[in-house]
Amino acid sequence: MDHQALVKLALRAGATKAEVMDGKRVVTNAMFRDICESNSCGSYGRCYMCPPHVGEIQQLMLKVQGYAYALIYQTISEIEDSFDIEGMLEAGTKHAWVSQHLQEMLEPSLREHSLHLTCGGCRLCDTCALVRGEPCVRPGKALPSMESYGVDVYNTVKDTQLKYINGQNTVTFFGMLLYDGT
Ligand code: SF4
Repeated sequence: MDHQALVKLALRAGATKAEVMDGKRVVTNAMFRDICESNSCGSYGRCYMCPPHVGEIQQLMLKVQGYAYALIYQTISEIEDSFDIEGMLEAGTKHAWVSQHLQEMLEPSLREHSLHLTCGGCRLCDTCALVRGEPCVRPGKALPSMESYGVDVYNTVKDTQLKYINGQNTVTFFGMLLYDGT
């Protein structure tokens, strides 16, 4: 599968825009772990795909930096206004399903030799099995977030066609597939 085929696949999965970039242009910063630790989303320590369970930040950033290419994609959803929390949550869930759809559409070999990161914590279950002290119910399907791996999304996309902010009354989420070759 070549780079443009991956872009098309992301669009078919439901992404609004997608682009392939050199993996070396992906910016990482350990500061994102501090943001997760502040637990403003309430998911810290409550999801296998979120810190601290997702892994140690320096190791995860090294992993991100080890791929030749990055397919970066985004979903842009309309919301009523900047107070439309329900609309934002709905857009986040929609984005998570776009990521899942893309993951399913990837060739098995690429799925195995790539790293797919989405946005926010895993949204596959209403409450993560971690909270009940049980194993993940969908291992292999659950995707960690770019932030938990220390990806600085703003600085990574700033020289691409994918804008971080896409106008009034919209919310934008990103996902990233890191891979080595096609
Ligand atoms: S699939 Fe469910 S149990 Fe597994 S990490 Fe995601 S929310 Fe947790």
